[in-house]
Amino acid sequence: MNTKIFTISVEDTASPAISEAAELLRNGGLVAFPTETVYGLGGNATDTEAAQKIYAAKGRPSDNPLIIHIASPEEAEQYAYTNETYYRLAKAFMPGPLTVILPKKDSIPQSVTGGLDTVAIRCPSHPLAQALIRAAGVAIAAPSANRSGSPSPSCGAHVIHDLNGRIDAILSGGECEIGLESTIIQLCDNKATLLRPGAVTADALRCVCEEVAISPAVTEGLQENERPLSPGMKYRHYAPRLPLVLLDGDEDCVLSFLLHAQNAEKCVILCYREETEYLRNERLIDIGGKQELNEQAHRLFAALRAADGMDADIIYAHLPPKDGMGLALYNRLIRAAAHTVLQV
Ligand code: AMP
Ligand code: MG
Repeated sequence: MNTKIFTISVEDTASPAISEAAELLRNGGLVAFPTETVYGLGGNATDTEAAQKIYAAKGRPSDNPLIIHIASPEEAEQYAYTNETYYRLAKAFMPGPLTVILPKKDSIPQSVTGGLDTVAIRCPSHPLAQALIRAAGVAIAAPSANRSGSPSPSCGAHVIHDLNGRIDAILSGGECEIGLESTIIQLCDNKATLLRPGAVTADALRCVCEEVAISPAVTEGLQENERPLSPGMKYRHYAPRLPLVLLDGDEDCVLSFLLHAQNAEKCVILCYREETEYLRNERLIDIGGKQELNEQAHRLFAALRAADGMDADIIYAHLPPKDGMGLALYNRLIRAAAHTVLQV
């Protein structure tokens, strides 16, 4: 299939590329587009065939549901049974990097929700995503625009690498500001549960909902036979080809470990900016300042993709802290590492 690639700047919401992409979506086609979190692979959310095409293009198991993207929080009424907590969250965080799981209405086919009776709703703030959803005039089902199993795409080049030739069009609109996928919160049976951490942190959510439980799967592997709340939890997402090992220990111990490792092994090191003056490894990737967790999030997936393309035997990275934005980094890295943590 010939994929149309439109290179477009973030402000260019009036571009003819948007109307062309919207037309493709209305006709059942697939279009990848930038959001403030990562790129999404969009299709008409009310169209079963479009959903099937999304799963095929990604190589994604069809029991892993898609997130529905809308242009304003009220549009959720057409697709889900909302409640008061949803509107409080919407007031605080939408448009923005938050996905809310609610009981679904019949307008959304089960092929989109992986057979579940709930639906994931998100209202992105990215100007091009907003413009595309409005121009399409339908909700857009969109998982991350990567091939299943590789890191989510945080710039247009990642999408082109993974999906060129497999979908109708790509709106290539630069780097995603956040770089990690949205926070997912489930609101069912009057309980709020964080299923995936992201830029809307658990503390921020607790300012709006008094109680937010954190699903154990955010930090731990699933237990054998455990049924995940979010089907995506059971897959080894974001998996690099090379084994990834996370280093836990105080700053000095991790640095001496890395100083030794760079001479002893063919390794890629994802390090903090402050460490670049000490490490001399030829495969060194600066993921940002030690305290700059937003910067680290912004760079993480590009770093994992770059690391995986290098001629090496192993990748080392720091184990992130589990609070604030650290929890989102921790969640992505611990899964990419298949829970391999080395105490140093
Ligand atoms: P992605 O689209 O790649 O960001 O992944 C979407 C994530 O949202 C996956 O982990 C899904 O399992 C999760 N998700 C989507 N819809 C639901 C739902 N109805 N209930 C629970 N998790 C969901
Ligand atoms: Mg994904």
